[in-house]
Amino acid sequence: MPARPRILVHACCASCASYVLEHLAGRFDVTALFYNPNIQPESEYRLRLGEMPAVCRPLGIELIEGHREPGAWEALIAPVAHLPEGGERCRVCYRMRLDETARAAARLGIALIATTLSVSPHKVWPMIVEQGRAAAARAGVEFLEEDFKKRGGFGISCERSRELGLTRQDYCGCLPSLEEARRRRSSPHQKG
Ligand code: SF4
Repeated sequence: MPARPRILVHACCASCASYVLEHLAGRFDVTALFYNPNIQPESEYRLRLGEMPAVCRPLGIELIEGHREPGAWEALIAPVAHLPEGGERCRVCYRMRLDETARAAARLGIALIATTLSVSPHKVWPMIVEQGRAAAARAGVEFLEEDFKKRGGFGISCERSRELGLTRQDYCGCLPSLEEARRRRSSPHQKG
């Protein structure tokens, strides 16, 4: 039987990864990369990273933690930090995470990358594709353009999260998104 092609999958959290890794493991030899310098506070970062083995181990998937340069995400995001979720702030954030994923894949000799980001209906698919393609091109690898929320992917990820007892937070990861979630909680009729 021919060897399955290798893929490096950027994982934003165990909950989103639960479905995506399982879905890809049938077609690819998957390695997962947890590179999310956007996640704050540090206790939340540790919580999300700490849950990753629960989804990787049963599938025999190797998990790599990306190196976070202190302050680098904040410096990059600073000019757009005030803009709402789904806009330029997220574009810069996607770019940073997908750039590192593509560079890591090139270092590891893996020709294909993907990201779990698209399983969430809160993420902007055209922006993910744009940044995934560009990051892959810069590093000389390819981006798998698969919108994982399609064919019930988001619902399945919610189901898997419940089965595995994973945390499902109501904010994306960064402090501005935490602040936006706090405002939503205090004013339930506010959008986004
Ligand atoms: S809302 Fe999410 S994707 Fe957007 S900047 Fe914050 S952490 Fe990044």
